[in-house]
Amino acid sequence: MTTKHTSSAVEFVKEDRLQDLFLELAKINAPSTKEQPVADYLIKALPELGFTFEFDEAHKSFDGEVGNLIAWNEGTDPSIPPLFFSTHMDTVLPTEGLKPVIKEGIIHSDGTTILGADDRAALAAYLEAMLAIKESKIPHGPVEFILTVNEQPGLVGSRYLDYTKVRSKAGYIFDSSGEVGQIILKGPFSSRIWMEVEGNAAHIALNAEEGNSAVLIAAEGLTKMKLGTIDDETLANVGIIKGGEMTSIIPGNVTVAGEVRSYSKTKLDLQLEHMAETMRQAAEKNAGKVKIRIEKKYSGFNISKDDILVKTAESAANNIRVKPYFTETLGGADTNVLNENGLSCPTLGLGFQNIHSFRECISIENLVNTGRLTAALIEQWYVNHKDNSSKPF
Ligand SMILES: [Zn+2]
Repeated sequence: MTTKHTSSAVEFVKEDRLQDLFLELAKINAPSTKEQPVADYLIKALPELGFTFEFDEAHKSFDGEVGNLIAWNEGTDPSIPPLFFSTHMDTVLPTEGLKPVIKEGIIHSDGTTILGADDRAALAAYLEAMLAIKESKIPHGPVEFILTVNEQPGLVGSRYLDYTKVRSKAGYIFDSSGEVGQIILKGPFSSRIWMEVEGNAAHIALNAEEGNSAVLIAAEGLTKMKLGTIDDETLANVGIIKGGEMTSIIPGNVTVAGEVRSYSKTKLDLQLEHMAETMRQAAEKNAGKVKIRIEKKYSGFNISKDDILVKTAESAANNIRVKPYFTETLGGADTNVLNENGLSCPTLGLGFQNIHSFRECISIENLVNTGRLTAALIEQWYVNHKDNSSKPF
């Protein structure tokens, strides 16, 4: 008699089952702040995978349907530090009426909705990985899910997350378009700047001599402002100009708003100050005024290649025969907010493409590799900590 020896939960990740699970999750219509249907699905699915869970009350801060979901699986060895996996439950647009089309190994929508691979593919992969872990009966430490709401409009759910409910300190977020194997180690600091320029309103035919155009003051400030790529770490943009009432009125007020992103907090602050100062000088020169308001969006993160999270991710990728590779991003994600709140995590690639559009797609290979990598991460995390605890320090 021969018995098949299986040493890894990765072998229990099933392509068909994961694909079905992804399509089932993608079809659940739950755009930002309306995540209740996906929460309802998880309320049923998580206990079957050995999780207890609770919701926080983040949604009360922005009129959402449901809070962030924090779920806990004790594992077989609670002495191992817990490892979290995070993703967002919302999609950027509705997925109602989603009709998936699979062509040459790539999953698309029929072009009338988004696919929702961002980020239901990660959610499906996490669930499939836990099912594989359960079936394989491999030993593992505690696994926590941090499933946020209202991420798409600007990381809102994670900002209001009740961090006292989270027990892990380290984890991963699959939410990037790189192929599976991508490990994003660095993300930017980001702030918005609001410049309310004040001149003096007047009618061109009645009292034009009293007029002082806020639009012209703002224009002068803007033409002197350094924008775009400031250096290899810093981007700046002005994206909003609002003001004026009528074509016959010299505008008394205009609001100019922009955003700066930089890997360096010092450079971020310098660029914001440059923008504020340039507009201040334009206002001063033209007998106007400007009120500046700076609004922090999120903080940057920078994870060392020597971090056990990174070492674990490299080994786990090699274990499933995908090539690990490091990148950085000037995009923002929940990763920024979680790191700022003491939860160390890199963003990982899962290979979705054309997100936030009706051309969104993901290859079955990347979907399945996300499930396999999740299982491999849980295994490798256990191995790395078991090895350490048996070594004398
Ligand atoms: Zn996403």
